[in-house]
Amino acid sequence: MNFELLKQTALADLEKASDDVSREAWRVKYLGRKSDLSLFLRSLAEKTDQEKRALGPQANALRKELELRFHGAVVGGRYRPETFRFDVTQPGVKHETGHLHPLTLVSRDILRIFVSMGFDVATGPEIESAYYNFDALNIPAWHPARETMDTMWLDLPELQKPLPERGQTGYQYPAGYKFLLRTHTSPIQIRYMETHKPPFRMVVGDGRAFRNEATDARHEFQLNQLEGLMIGTDVSIATLRSVIHDFFRGFFGPDVAMRMVPSYYPFVEPGVDITVSCVGCKGKNRACKICGGLGWLEVAGAGMVHPNVLKAVALDPKKWQGFAFGFGVDRLAMTKYAIDDIRLFMSGDERFIRQF
Ligand SMILES: [Zn+2]
Repeated sequence: MNFELLKQTALADLEKASDDVSREAWRVKYLGRKSDLSLFLRSLAEKTDQEKRALGPQANALRKELELRFHGAVVGGRYRPETFRFDVTQPGVKHETGHLHPLTLVSRDILRIFVSMGFDVATGPEIESAYYNFDALNIPAWHPARETMDTMWLDLPELQKPLPERGQTGYQYPAGYKFLLRTHTSPIQIRYMETHKPPFRMVVGDGRAFRNEATDARHEFQLNQLEGLMIGTDVSIATLRSVIHDFFRGFFGPDVAMRMVPSYYPFVEPGVDITVSCVGCKGKNRACKICGGLGWLEVAGAGMVHPNVLKAVALDPKKWQGFAFGFGVDRLAMTKYAIDDIRLFMSGDERFIRQF
């Protein structure tokens, strides 16, 4: 066998093979099981030791060389050993590993603080029934508060029959019952109270809620809430104040001041709005962009759980009492990182996301 001739022919053929199909045909012809070279290598077994020693290394060297050239042609297009140099000083290809979204970071911060205070973390469905989203929260069908939550109602015939989890609660959905994208995460508090025995303290861990909003710098149709609930025989509004203030000290830093202002929410009585001292200017800059010069930021709503809500989950309001609260996670994140447009969170703009 003329190794040199075989090599010249093979390399000339490889030079002509310009696409994957012709390169594969080349591989079968020169390196395949039935190629001349392979047949020759196999036939060596029947040769004398002397012949093996003389021809074996040559044949194997040729095989190695052809394999190398073939891989070079496949990987690098055309393989030219005279010009090809592997430059170890060339920078490699950088792989981006990615990281958590700012809203996830803030949610985890918040949850970490509440878990350290002994709160349980609960989650629930994003598609909710009108019962859990409104009725059980002291917002019956006639209640004006339903109007203020621009609800996205769902037309889902397959959900008009009872859901599996209603078995835990004994609640039967009537035929033709209405479903919606939850407008707040409060339904999870109801579900939690139905399935746990007080005393307890819980926060809602996955707080997406949806409203049919016209979007602007401060409003999105998807908002992220973080709600919590604490029920016991002696949980008072003083407990509320102390727990929430502890949370803000953990989240914004030890100096943050907190104020409670009377407000109205259908599921609490009394209800309060909670404001914290501006983290940007601490109330000392009239031109502050974060607080608009007011010195205070409205960050949460809260209050003592309404007796009607306790009755809806079969708890005796004469025995049990407690508080509920809700933060806008987006608002807290905007305050903490001085972000001026809520729409950036879901914009998918990497220039924004990479800053966290
Ligand atoms: Zn300020």
